[in-house]
Amino acid sequence: MRLLIVEDEKRLAVSLARGLTAEGFAVDVVHDGLEGLHRACDGAYDLVVLDIMLPGMNGYRVCAALRAAGHEVPILMLTAKDGEYDEAEGLDTGADDYLTKPFSYVVLVARVRALLRRRAGAGSPVVTVGSLRMDTAARRVHRGEEEIALTAKEFAVLEQLVLRAGQVVSKAEILEHVWDFAYDGDPNIVEVYVSTLRRKLGTASIRTMRGAGYRLEAL
Ligand code: CA
Repeated sequence: MRLLIVEDEKRLAVSLARGLTAEGFAVDVVHDGLEGLHRACDGAYDLVVLDIMLPGMNGYRVCAALRAAGHEVPILMLTAKDGEYDEAEGLDTGADDYLTKPFSYVVLVARVRALLRRRAGAGSPVVTVGSLRMDTAARRVHRGEEEIALTAKEFAVLEQLVLRAGQVVSKAEILEHVWDFAYDGDPNIVEVYVSTLRRKLGTASIRTMRGAGYRLEAL
């Protein structure tokens, strides 16, 4: 899952990005509202964390502009504690949720995951494909009774396939949602992760659709 953080407090932005990256998210950071709007309009993001007081364009306007342009990406707004900014106003402009600063990192991650689940239309964090069971909240994967140990990145790649099980997911889509824009390495890295996942899950599970991508089938 790929996240965009629009936050001008650089230390906060960097520490959020570091924490979320360690959990397997691909994270891009910008410090300016206008740049945030442009990036968010690219449409590759699964969620945007949006501060309100920003140079360039404030968070309310970024949010309203995104919604006016028809983008439905979930938006988690960060509001200041001083009450100068009204949470209701944030929700009115189309934000999906808000957090008041200072907030606990654990709460932020829980809200991010809840919004991503809601967006995927999944009421439960547990997704089952055949004998494969993925708990997107606890970050655990089981095949039958056996737990499969995955790295954060392996989990993120598998998540893309699980959430669209039975459909073809292109290599570009996986790359876009699992790696951030700072990644300028070989796009074939996706193949490396898929072959590791095959080894861990069982070879027949992830089919290569020649020239199109991959498809996860029930195990
Ligand atoms: Ca700010």
